Amino acid sequence: MKLYSATIPADALKVRSKTSYYARQKNLFVMLVIVISLTPLLVISWTSSHFYRQSWQKQTSLSLASLAESRKEVIDLFLSSQEDILSSLVALHSKAELEKPGALNKVFAAINSSKVIIDLGVIDESGRHLAYVGPFKQKLLDKNYGASPWFSEAMKNGRYISDVFEGFRGVPHFVVAVASPDRSWLLRATVNSELFNKLLESAEVGPGGDAYLVNIGGEFQTPSRLGLTALPKAEQAMLMQAGEGGDVHAWQNSLYATARLNNGAWLLVLKTDIDTSLKEFYQARNRDFVIIICAALIILVVSTVLIRTMVNQIEKADGQRIGLLNRIRQAEKMGLVGRLAAGVAHEINNPLQIIGDQAGWIDELLDDDRERQLENLKEYRNAAGKIRDQVKRASAITHRLLGFSRKESGRGLVDLNKLLDETVSFLENEARKHRILIRKNFSEIGQVFSDGAQLQQVILNILNNAIDAVGEDGAITVSTGRTADRLTIEFADTGPGLSGDDLKRIFDPFFTTKEKEKGTGLGLSISYSIMQRLGGEILARNGETGGSVFTVVLPAGKSTDTKSLPRGDISKGLCNE
Ligand code: ADP
Repeated sequence: MKLYSATIPADALKVRSKTSYYARQKNLFVMLVIVISLTPLLVISWTSSHFYRQSWQKQTSLSLASLAESRKEVIDLFLSSQEDILSSLVALHSKAELEKPGALNKVFAAINSSKVIIDLGVIDESGRHLAYVGPFKQKLLDKNYGASPWFSEAMKNGRYISDVFEGFRGVPHFVVAVASPDRSWLLRATVNSELFNKLLESAEVGPGGDAYLVNIGGEFQTPSRLGLTALPKAEQAMLMQAGEGGDVHAWQNSLYATARLNNGAWLLVLKTDIDTSLKEFYQARNRDFVIIICAALIILVVSTVLIRTMVNQIEKADGQRIGLLNRIRQAEKMGLVGRLAAGVAHEINNPLQIIGDQAGWIDELLDDDRERQLENLKEYRNAAGKIRDQVKRASAITHRLLGFSRKESGRGLVDLNKLLDETVSFLENEARKHRILIRKNFSEIGQVFSDGAQLQQVILNILNNAIDAVGEDGAITVSTGRTADRLTIEFADTGPGLSGDDLKRIFDPFFTTKEKEKGTGLGLSISYSIMQRLGGEILARNGETGGSVFTVVLPAGKSTDTKSLPRGDISKGLCNE
């Protein structure tokens, strides 16, 4: 039979598991904060860094291309001016004139005021020196250039600029040669490499960059700034291919600008190392990353602390709300049961009275009619006895039911320790019979303004239950204590304790696990409603080392007016700890 229909939905009383629900909420909020706060930071930092690198690369490509173009023009101009000077000399002078002693010296001095040319030679059609001016006179004067590639090219084409070679002098150099129109002789000048190389030295290619000339075979015509003596094969292949287009190429973390010069015989290469050039940018970017990570950590720590505090408060508030709802629910239940119990007890008491009287009357009649009814007398007496026993049990129940609605018998100052002493003494014999020790562990708690008789009923009920639970051989420890605002009596037994299910229903009317003759299931529910009336509370839990622990809590109000005693903050919940 369902006695009570709750006005508070059971869902509202669901206690959320700490480890799952609230921990999940905390983690979820922290993750959300991290994602929301960090995503824009990271996106901004990544896009700006990407954008910066792109625009740097574009800018650098443009300036590298224009630098290559300007250097190519300067070098081409330099070479062609050397050619032009020699061409003018060949046109102005005959072989015979230049062969005369001292004539070539004069010409050399006239054209070489800027020291661009190291030496000058007049060579006849067979490759023999006719005249020479320069520092290698001893070494070169008797040499024949008939088999030298530059000589044949010059004789063939009329003019020629060679690649860098060591030649008879054994020093790397290159020559400019111009032949006479009838190819009977030629003028050859050796270019000052130091001055020539300077044409490239001024090219700004940044740290880790390089600027050099290579011939079509990939051999260096000017020194590499990085000290390279030969180009790696892959780089050479890339350059030769890139040289055709003349654009800027990105290759292996470097930018290359190329330009063909000397009629396509040489390739000018300007190279910038991207990472080295961007070093400062990378340093600034890394600083930004460190700042972002620090900011992220601060956000993480602050938000974690805030979220934890918030969720803990929500959890606490939820706990308080559930505790309050539980108390309201139990109070509603008790109020209803109290009214129902009073009605039922009143209605049943009268018929029980009559049945009991009639059983007594039957007994009396049987005494008178003994002779006639002798055969069934024993049966009749048995039946009348059974009726009386059941009436007794029924009236015990109705009597207890009245406990729900019983008005107070009267309040006064109660010495709780003394009341406990007295109540324990009622049950000591019973306990001894079952070898159960009742230990008293009382503190100095003074007196409380309450209803002694009703408190005693509660204590008796809890002690009786404890003796039943322990059965044989065990102990019950009764302790008292006091805090600023409450008095407590604790009953800890060595019985089997309470299962989770029992713990939920233990204060429900008619909930019992005892045999039919022994239990009515009303003791704890009545005790609960008594404690509520007294402004206190009764709590049940399992002990840390086993057994059950029942705690009776009373407000320790100083005032004798119990209505002013604090009722709300006595306990956090009901019994489901
Ligand atoms: P009754 O004693 O008539 O069964 P109560 O309301 O006093 O009714 O008790 C209800 C039930 O609570 C008991 O049947 C028992 O299952 C359980 N109970 C009460 N006290 C204890 C205890 N100390 N140890 C274990 N179970 C207990």
